[in-house]
Amino acid sequence: MPHRIRAARAAQRYAVRAISAHGLAHPLSLALLAAASTAAARAWDRGHRVADTHPHPYREPPVAADLHTRYMAAHRTWADHAADCGTCTTTQPNCPDGAPLWERLVRLQDAYLTHLRNKKGTS
Ligand SMILES: [Zn+2]
Repeated sequence: MPHRIRAARAAQRYAVRAISAHGLAHPLSLALLAAASTAAARAWDRGHRVADTHPHPYREPPVAADLHTRYMAAHRTWADHAADCGTCTTTQPNCPDGAPLWERLVRLQDAYLTHLRNKKGTS
């Protein structure tokens, strides 16, 4: 999803411009910072690295370990919730707190499996 990265970078540029022009405490600056944060979080949830949102001249480590770590962390968070919830099951969110945890796990699982397929050239 390269458009997520473009959206995140554009949102950051708008926020920086607003901060330069109006200061950090201005409502426009705060609104654009919130939008930039949301755009960056969406890119992150799709499996992009922080370095994709913040281009850096130095090489970054491969995405696989980072993505796998986030995928496994999301799985643990979901499994812990499902075990304690009483409403959600391990394969079905059924409460307002469980739904976003499940959605994050599904997004990261898709991103990780896509990464593996691309790596093997079987997509
Ligand atoms: Zn639940």
